[in-house]
Amino acid sequence: MNELSATDNWRAQARQACTKAAIPITPKRLEVYAALLKAGHPISAYDLIDMLKQDFARALTPISIYRMLDFLEQKHLVRKLKSTGKYLAINRESALKNQAVSQFLICRHCGDVRELSVDRRILGELKACIDSSGFQLHNMELEWDCVCTSCSDAPILNNNSLSLQG
Ligand SMILES: [Zn+2]
Repeated sequence: MNELSATDNWRAQARQACTKAAIPITPKRLEVYAALLKAGHPISAYDLIDMLKQDFARALTPISIYRMLDFLEQKHLVRKLKSTGKYLAINRESALKNQAVSQFLICRHCGDVRELSVDRRILGELKACIDSSGFQLHNMELEWDCVCTSCSDAPILNNNSLSLQG
């Protein structure tokens, strides 16, 4: 598969997700979303600009990319990770079913991210506690401080990791 058809493939996947979710989307926004799907891991807005230029022959200014990312985030297609400020395409399928909430496991060493779909019922007790506090919860997606499999297999580098390993 050459680079062009691979890019078309990501466009098609992005379009399919938007169609399923009945989200009207402009070609530019679609490409931003397609690029994030293609990246498959969290990337910064500036890396995204480079990727769009290289892979999609699309030149965007930082202002317009941030606007588009805002739109995609509002539509729950993209998540901005608070801990790193990077952007990640989220699992639209589980979000659509509305039974699952995305939780993000972030490796504190290499920054690798795994998205987990957690059943809303599992979070029910926590939600009840929050409701009883009088605060209104807006987002149940959490970023969890983790160590990924490859980093936990890596040789211990400092005293901190030593004590973490018990
Ligand atoms: Zn790691």
